[in-house]
Order: sequence, then structure tokens, then C-alpha cells
Amino acid sequence: MTALEGLGYAFDPLDRGAYLRDDAEAVRALRAHPDARAALIARDMPVLRTTAAGLEALLPLAEADALGPMRVEALLGRLPGGAPVFAALLPDDAVVEQSDMSDGFLDRRVLVVPGRDDLKPTDLRAIAVGALVPAPEASVLATAKALLAWHARRTFCSHCGARTEVGAGGWRRECPSCKMQHFPRTDPVVIMLAVDGDNCLLGRQPRFPKGMYSALAGFLEPGETIEQAVRREIMEESGITGGEVRYFASQPWPFPSSLMIGCFVKAESRTVTVDRVELEDARWFSRAETLSMLEKRHPDGLTAPIPMAIAHHLVKRWATGTVAF
Ligand SMILES: [Zn+2]
Repeated sequence: MTALEGLGYAFDPLDRGAYLRDDAEAVRALRAHPDARAALIARDMPVLRTTAAGLEALLPLAEADALGPMRVEALLGRLPGGAPVFAALLPDDAVVEQSDMSDGFLDRRVLVVPGRDDLKPTDLRAIAVGALVPAPEASVLATAKALLAWHARRTFCSHCGARTEVGAGGWRRECPSCKMQHFPRTDPVVIMLAVDGDNCLLGRQPRFPKGMYSALAGFLEPGETIEQAVRREIMEESGITGGEVRYFASQPWPFPSSLMIGCFVKAESRTVTVDRVELEDARWFSRAETLSMLEKRHPDGLTAPIPMAIAHHLVKRWATGTVAF
């Protein structure tokens, strides 16, 4: 387990048993296991079950079966006690949108499973931010969501256009026409904190919560090393020349299928030129100011990201410890 307390989706408890995926007989046997569980996804949202003991992330597989045929199933692996876990994608029409005016004022649109008030499609970010289920279970839900979101959108072969079929226990799609195999994608994103002595560079996108500043980030491109992507992104977004790059930690970010690769980069220049297409602002922050943002006592109300995001841990590690450049 990672030592980064509160980091979202980073506590996967599963033995994935990838060698079992091509063994259809073994997958069938695991499916018949009395303790088999299902991570249920409906329209990209995990479906939590309300029980007397609280919210349940991994339903008994029989509960999922009672809802009718799933669109896709995938063997995710086995929990430490040995219970197999499957990701299961409900057909889109198994859930309906409903108006929720429970606070008597705002009309919130929510998804419901008709006839099953105990089942609640729940936003995966809300699950992590609110710690609605234990961190290892939130990690399993993240895997299920990322994998099934890929299945839901890759019904046809990108090479020849034929309808593809699910293979490898749900970890592959196969084209019966041109024989091409398609694998679930993970899109690497570099997220970096540029540091210069007692200062670090933070920026904000217009869509961020008011007053929040974060580390800069961008997609890694084909043909790039992580170090090159870090230096290119920091230059493009802030005009800062990046030097030495230090890897810090990574985080699955299933929105829809990213991996955040957290790094520190030594700034080799000081003048900030903000890329106004990507960012609303970017500037240097002192260590003291950054600490006040982490502790929510900044005089102007500025804040840093919350602990579920890797940016929080990048900023905190630098502000409270040493980054040896
Ligand atoms: Zn094909």
C-alpha cells in the first residue's frame, strides 16, 4: 500500500490473476464461487447497495444476476480472502434518470434502478471524496469503471468496423472479421510541481473550485519519455524551463482512463508566461503560503487540492519536507 494517506483509487487489494483470464473454465469456476462479488457499473457510475451495515461496494454476484443479463462482465481478480470479484456493466436502460428534490429546493437529476431503492448509482469522485466505502473497495470500483467505460465505447473494431466480441475474461475485445485484438487503454498524464528553492509553481484552470491552485498537468504524447513530457508541459503552460525531473508517485484516475504520473521538476528559469488557453493563472508560491493553503488558512482564501488528488501530496511533500534539487 502506498503511504499517501487519502489518495484516491490507489489501494487496489486484488490479486488480479491475469494468467486465469484466458482459461474460460477457471473463469467459470470463479464465477460459481459462493463468495463471488460484483462491482456493478451503470452508465459509468458504480452502483452502491444500501444495507443495514452501511453502503456496500461489492455486491454478492447473485444480487447482480438477479438484475438480468449484464452487457459485459470481466474478472477483476480475487480479494485477500479469496473471494473472486467481477466487474459487471448494466445495460443503459436498466437505470433511469429521476428528479431528486429531497432538499425541497434544487432539482438534482439522479440515476435510479427501478424497483430497487437499495441500489444507488453514485459518482465515483463522490465515493472517494466522501470516503463512502473503504479505500480498497473504491480502488476496485475505479478499475471496474475504467475497464467497463472502455468496453461500452469500443463495441466496433477500429480497424475494420466489425462488431467486436469480449475475450480474455473481459480484458480484451476481439474482431471476428479482421482478427485484430483490442486492449483496454490507459492514458498517461504527467502532473508536476516545478520547484525553485523555497518556491513552487502552481496554476489554476477556470473550471477549478474558486481559489484553488494546483500542480500543472498534461497528457504524455507518443514518443516521449516522462521527463520530456514534464519539461514540455511546464514550458507550454508557464514558460518555465524545466531541468532535473524526479518521479514521486502515481495514481489511477479513471475519468475516463488516465494514470497520473506525479513528478517534481527543478525550475531553471523564473519568469512565468501563462498559457491563457489552458490556465486562468499560474504563479510562484512561497513555502509558507503553500502551507497556509494546505491548512486552509490563506488570508485570500486560496486552497490546494484535497488529499484524494495526487497534486495534494506533491504540494504537501514539497511544503513539509525536502525535495532534493
Ligand atoms: Zn476488425
